[in-house]
Amino acid sequence: MAIRAPRSEAPAWLGSAAAAMMLTFDVDAEAPLLADDPGHGANAMLMAHQSFGPLVGVPRILELLAEQEVRATFFVPGVTAERHPSALESILAADHEVGHHSHSHPRYVDLEAAEEEDFERGLEVLRRFGVDVRGHRTPLSSASPRTAGLVARHGLSYESTLMDDDRPYRLMTGEGSIIELPPYWGLDDWLQYVNLPVSESFRVKPVADVIAGWQLELEALRREGGLCVLTMHPFAHGRGSRMRGLRALIADARAAGDVVFLTGAEAARRAEADPALAVRELARLLPDPDPAVYPAW
Ligand code: ZN
Repeated sequence: MAIRAPRSEAPAWLGSAAAAMMLTFDVDAEAPLLADDPGHGANAMLMAHQSFGPLVGVPRILELLAEQEVRATFFVPGVTAERHPSALESILAADHEVGHHSHSHPRYVDLEAAEEEDFERGLEVLRRFGVDVRGHRTPLSSASPRTAGLVARHGLSYESTLMDDDRPYRLMTGEGSIIELPPYWGLDDWLQYVNLPVSESFRVKPVADVIAGWQLELEALRREGGLCVLTMHPFAHGRGSRMRGLRALIADARAAGDVVFLTGAEAARRAEADPALAVRELARLLPDPDPAVYPAW
């Protein structure tokens, strides 16, 4: 049996913890479907399915977080804030963090100048509600070469989109540096719990399998000194059995005794203060394919 070598030195951003957990909720509601096709706005069934998030999921999640005494980060698109202001207000009243998640939830990688317009519009809506916006998550994991630079240029401290690590790092964007707090599709409930009749289908997995997988992931990250970023959507996660699964996961993490729960802003602050934090360059992340190797199709 292999004996695991002890971790050389705990990173400063973790403090005395073995791993950090970030509970994040993307309050997408109707936005991604309207961005896909505005005609979906006339689909009562589909719109009702999505509005479950702000109407029922968010209050239920807030209750669970209060019971477990943990703070979370809610990434809210501008259109969701405008359509469901009481959901946003209740999140703020419960002292959770609210982050930027675009205005209309388009695929940023498909946009050019319109990306900045959408970004600024969503930011302006959140600020109108009094949100001190510190971080951003790109809709549909669709970061373009411009996105991280926009986050830096607008004075935000972090982004939680790119997946090239499972620990925080400093990202040099060319327009200033930000902290990246990497999420991971394996820890995203969309791929586990969402199957909509109008978009790409995934096989819905049983709650017990999802939670068992996430528990294993957290266990591994406790050995690696990692950041466990759970990405959840209130329209998908606010249902009875899934909420029970989340409660069990949080309780297990607490019982481990060496997992610290952080909001995105808290994780970014710790990462910024860590002198040994890894540094990466956005330009280095983006290859410029050699046409001799990759001829145009
Ligand atoms: Zn989203």
